[in-house]
Amino acid sequence: MKIDQRRRCPYCGYTYRTEVGRNVFAHLLGDPGSNVAVHSVIFVCPHIECAKAEVFVDAGTFPAALRGRPEEDRQTFGYDLPGEYFKSRLLPAFGGKPELQTATVPDTIYRDYDEACKLLPVSASASVTMARRCAQKMIRAKFRLKPGKLLNEIKTLGTFSPPIQQEIIDALDSIRRTGKFRALPEDDVKVVSDVTPEAARHVIDIIEILLYDWFVAPELHNERITALQLILNRKYSEER
Ligand SMILES: [Zn+2]
Repeated sequence: MKIDQRRRCPYCGYTYRTEVGRNVFAHLLGDPGSNVAVHSVIFVCPHIECAKAEVFVDAGTFPAALRGRPEEDRQTFGYDLPGEYFKSRLLPAFGGKPELQTATVPDTIYRDYDEACKLLPVSASASVTMARRCAQKMIRAKFRLKPGKLLNEIKTLGTFSPPIQQEIIDALDSIRRTGKFRALPEDDVKVVSDVTPEAARHVIDIIEILLYDWFVAPELHNERITALQLILNRKYSEER
């Protein structure tokens, strides 16, 4: 976990200057001999009404730069452990972006997206399997399609009038093409395999953009139109 000079609190949005021993606490537990290190970092929001903590834990090989250096140097700040073995956020609980959990995003869709995010550091294949399911639910909810194969659903979107932007169809198709499909014969559950963490992250990025674009933005647009209407009404009555 890299410690930058400025940090934005994910709970309240307050941006603050990081200060070791005041709002940042870090420790590197490591053994150069066995070449293993665990780096833990805690940020505490200095905004008095918030004061919530963020917790990160990384595990990786013992950093070469710290070999032969005294124990105190292991509290080196701004130091980023590569996290080859493990890299995760413990608090706030790892998962989907809270700003996408709104009344206009259907619960079942948010849950799949959140689950896909939680699976990301554990299993890229499991994350993509969940993300594909989420993408299908999103297409059906947004365009009121009858359930079918993802490939057919994407093809159907291509025939819509007015046409759906090609970039969106390409993005959905890129989710579909991520990983090889492997059906488990005994219970007919389909899972995706051979996925890299980067490819899984790419799929989540697409889902986040579409969630916002399809379910969050239209509602915000409607709110602005209502506000506009109120202003117009006021103007009209003044003129009369
Ligand atoms: Zn805060």
